[in-house]
Amino acid sequence: MPELPEVEFAARRLRVAILGHTLAAADVFHPSAARHLPPAHRKALVGRQVRQVERRAKIQLLHLDDASVLEVHFRMTGDWAFAQVGDEAPRFERVRLDTREGLRVSLVDSRAFAVVRWHAPGTFVLPDLGPEPLGDDFTVDALRDALASRRAPIKPVLLDQRVVAGVGNIYASEALWLARISPETPANALTGPRQTARLTRLRDGIQEALRTAPATRYYNSGIHDGSPYDEPQDWRVYDREGQACARCGSRIVRYVQAGRSTYACGKCQR
Ligand SMILES: [Zn+2]
Repeated sequence: MPELPEVEFAARRLRVAILGHTLAAADVFHPSAARHLPPAHRKALVGRQVRQVERRAKIQLLHLDDASVLEVHFRMTGDWAFAQVGDEAPRFERVRLDTREGLRVSLVDSRAFAVVRWHAPGTFVLPDLGPEPLGDDFTVDALRDALASRRAPIKPVLLDQRVVAGVGNIYASEALWLARISPETPANALTGPRQTARLTRLRDGIQEALRTAPATRYYNSGIHDGSPYDEPQDWRVYDREGQACARCGSRIVRYVQAGRSTYACGKCQR
């Protein structure tokens, strides 16, 4: 599943390719895509110029010159493919945007769970989302406020988009390992007066996990636009059940929390 770093890089590639272009045609090639983007909405896209490509959490937003918005969710397997108008269609093409400048952007999606929706001018409303984890608003105080009333274990709480926007299952495990915090710690146990050091480690861990995402390996080479992303690392605990913890040598364990796999070191994460 594309997580925040993958979606961020996908949005950057899209921005570099399509900003300022005027849409010449919008087509769909799957019943699900046709349902989300009916003929009247595809027609409304034609002639509109792309003024901005924004990402919030894992949502990509194309802001058009009439203040309408194209909202894109990759879900399980979505991604962009770029080509020239007239090129052969890529495999699993679900939605196609052609521009007057000759660019063809295809949403490719083997599982066909991705969603592309058009919102008439002035009607788009973002869901209730917490701060961007790599943004200035994601402070230790903001995290403390978000966790203060939550008694559930911290790992599933980090997946709640209202706490912090766009942290997925992999990065929640990675962040908790970096912070040396057990995934089973009640979230509000991290908010007391003597917990500031742990809470700061958690905030920093979330940011480090995202900044060093393995996804950056595939994208860093081609895109230079003031990236907040660092040299990519392999996973530290995710998908490493039974392997030695890089910090203390104990075995990484896997268990299920709220229906999702959690990976952690039982010794150095408290
Ligand atoms: Zn360990």
